[in-house]
Formats: sequence, structure tokens, C-alpha cells
Amino acid sequence: MTSIPKTKTSAQIKQETDRCVMCGLCLPHCPTYLKTRNESESPRGRISLMRALAGGELALTEQLQGHLESCLLCRACEVKCPSKVNYASIMDATRIAIAQQQPAPPKPSSLEKLATDNTLRRKLNRLLWLADKSGLRAAGRGLGITRAMGLERLEQLAPPTPLTRSWHSYYPASAEKRADVALFTGCFSDLFDQQTLSASILMLNRLGYGVHVPATQTCCGALHYHKGDSTQAAELARQNHQAFAELEIEAIISTASGCGSHLQEHNPSGHPIQEISQFLANAHWPEHIQFKPLTKQIAVHDPCSLRNTLKAAEFPYQLLHKIPQLKIVPLPGNERCCGGAGSYMLDHPAMADNLRQDKLDALTATEADILVTSNIGCALHLMSGLRSEHRKTVVRHPVTLLAEQLSN
Ligand code: SF4
Ligand code: SF4
Repeated sequence: MTSIPKTKTSAQIKQETDRCVMCGLCLPHCPTYLKTRNESESPRGRISLMRALAGGELALTEQLQGHLESCLLCRACEVKCPSKVNYASIMDATRIAIAQQQPAPPKPSSLEKLATDNTLRRKLNRLLWLADKSGLRAAGRGLGITRAMGLERLEQLAPPTPLTRSWHSYYPASAEKRADVALFTGCFSDLFDQQTLSASILMLNRLGYGVHVPATQTCCGALHYHKGDSTQAAELARQNHQAFAELEIEAIISTASGCGSHLQEHNPSGHPIQEISQFLANAHWPEHIQFKPLTKQIAVHDPCSLRNTLKAAEFPYQLLHKIPQLKIVPLPGNERCCGGAGSYMLDHPAMADNLRQDKLDALTATEADILVTSNIGCALHLMSGLRSEHRKTVVRHPVTLLAEQLSN
């Protein structure tokens, strides 16, 4: 059965907020508080607002809603909280409760529509490919056409993209077979980063795993859920349940930590959800699998979803250390969100870009040739920033880099 939880009642929200003892130890870890120094933009301030809202002591105003919506849901506060307040679950429940009080269901944003509509994504892929190939995209940007259409921000996020391919339903193991797994392709990974999906299938096959890629799978629903649209999130979970539940597999593998963390917390299929780097790092590696040396320096960006939700930030490093001569440094400031945060980069451009600038400055200091990240949302946001500064640093997924260096 699907397991998107029922909405928390106001009493349950209030009970959870009561665990906060207002110590303020989370404040120095909150990106929005550090940028604004405004208590209402801090975890403690937001918890107070959510408690008052749930208890009926405060009415919902535009200003109050703004403070709740400006939270990145990065969970940097949650992992530092000595009282173990389940911050993200309170914020999600509050956003759902607010959405349910509205006279009409929330209208899906263009990003949410794209996430759930395979046909629309394929059409966009062909349009972007054509526009890039013909030079129309640069021309449209230069003439201000995308700005006039209100698509400027969305267009800036879309990297130059090759034509996407359709997946086979099954990729057999190319070594002695261990088991079958399934690949969660995700909506934006399938649109913008099929390279990582192919690299993941290659590595899994080489380690003896057959890989199912069910055609009927869909978006994980994280974008919708975190914006309060629990109905659409539950529908997507239902579709994914149908796509995966009957497969005889060891795990569902996700290549984007944002999707992986949502799937793990709201598991739609009953199968274990595994992040690709974690799965590969823990697999048995036959001795004949070797990697070519790479004399480059890379900086590794830890997505909040990998670090704070999946608690699996060490695994990309473990994999990358298999590549001889590669110099690996963590991107300084990894404990802080890059501002991508799902649809946050579109809905809160000023804060998203401000947080991203800290990452780009930290990257400059590392002098890295390649920036590595395990989440498609972070990758798109960071790539867009690098392009806007005309920088040549490339952004890669750790498994893509690994597959490229396979020597046999
Ligand atoms: S959320 Fe946790 S760390 Fe932050 S003020 Fe409350 S109890 Fe303290
Ligand atoms: S989830 Fe992130 S942005 Fe939101 S209050 Fe916590 S630390 Fe701040």
C-alpha cells in the first residue's frame, strides 16, 4: 500500500512543536536566519509561528505564510536539535494544513506540471535541443523573449541538453548475477541527466545486478508534498506503487538524493530505497573492476537531502576514492544549503541565488576542475550559477565520473 501519511491534526502539530525548548542552538545552522538575522526566519521562530497557528492564537496572514514558505526544508536545524524536534514533519504538516484551508486546491507550478507529465517533458526536451542547436535559445534570451513570457528563470536553469532516450524495461547483469534491482529515473534526472542514469545502470550491471526500469514510474512527489499538495503527492505514490510493487528486486535505486529521501520517508512500494552511491559503496567489488587515473581536483558538494535526511554523505567520497590520482576536497560550507531546495530556486530567487553565491565563492577557493553533487536539483541550480559567471567548471554526479573512468 502507498504510505503518504495522513495529515497531522492541529493538536498533533502543536504537540510536536511543544518539544522545542527554545534553546536557539539551531539558529547558527539555519541559512535563512544567517542571511536575514530575523527570528521569524529561523527554526525557533518558525516553530513558534506554527505552534501559534495550530493553537489558533495567530491567524494566517500573508506575512506569516511568507516566513513559513521561505524555509528551505534543508533540515540543518533538525540534525543539530538536542530535543530531537521533528522540524520537517511539522513544516510539511503545517503547509498541508494551510493548503487544505484554501478555497481551491493549489494550482500546480510549471515545475510541478513538468514533473508529472512525461509527454510535456519529452516535448520540452526536443524544443530545448532544437533551440540550442539552432541558436534560437541564445537569441530568445538576448531579445528578452523568455523574460517577456515569464520563463526567464526556468530557462536559465535548463542546461544544454542532448535528446533524451527511452529506456528498456530491463538491463541484464554483465557479470555473475547477484540480484535484480530497479532504477528510479525521476522526472528531472530523466530530462536533464540521463548520463547519470546510464552510468548507474552500467555500474550496477558490472557488479552483477540486473536493472529493471519500469516505464510507468513517475515523479516521487517531493515537490508537491513540500508545498502542501498532499493529494497529488499521494496520487504519485499510488502510481509508483503500481510500477514497482510486483517486481522481485533487492532495492529501488535512486540517483537523486532529493527523490531518494522523499521515497525513503514515504516509501510507495515496500521495497528498500537505496541511494546509488550508498548501494554501490556497500556492494561487493570484484577485483577485475579497475579505474583509470584522473589527474584532476574535484570539490564535492553534499546535498542537504543526502547529508541531513539520508545521512549518507560519506558514500560519494568512498566511491570517488576508487579513482587513482583524483584529488578530492569537500566543498567548504557543505553543512549549508545551496539554495536549490526543490522548487525554492524558482519561488525564492533572491535567497536561492544569495546562498548559491556562497557555494560559487567557496568553489573558487578550492580551484577544483569539477564540482560533484548527488542531487539533480542542486546540480541544475549550481550549473546555472556557473554559466551566469561564464565559468568552465563542470558539474557531475559521482557515479557518472566513476563510470567514465572504468578501465575495462
Ligand atoms: S528546534 Fe531544537 S535546537 Fe532549535 S530552539 Fe527548538 S529545541 Fe532548540
Ligand atoms: S529547515 Fe533549513 S531553512 Fe528551514 S528553519 Fe531549518 S535550517 Fe532554517
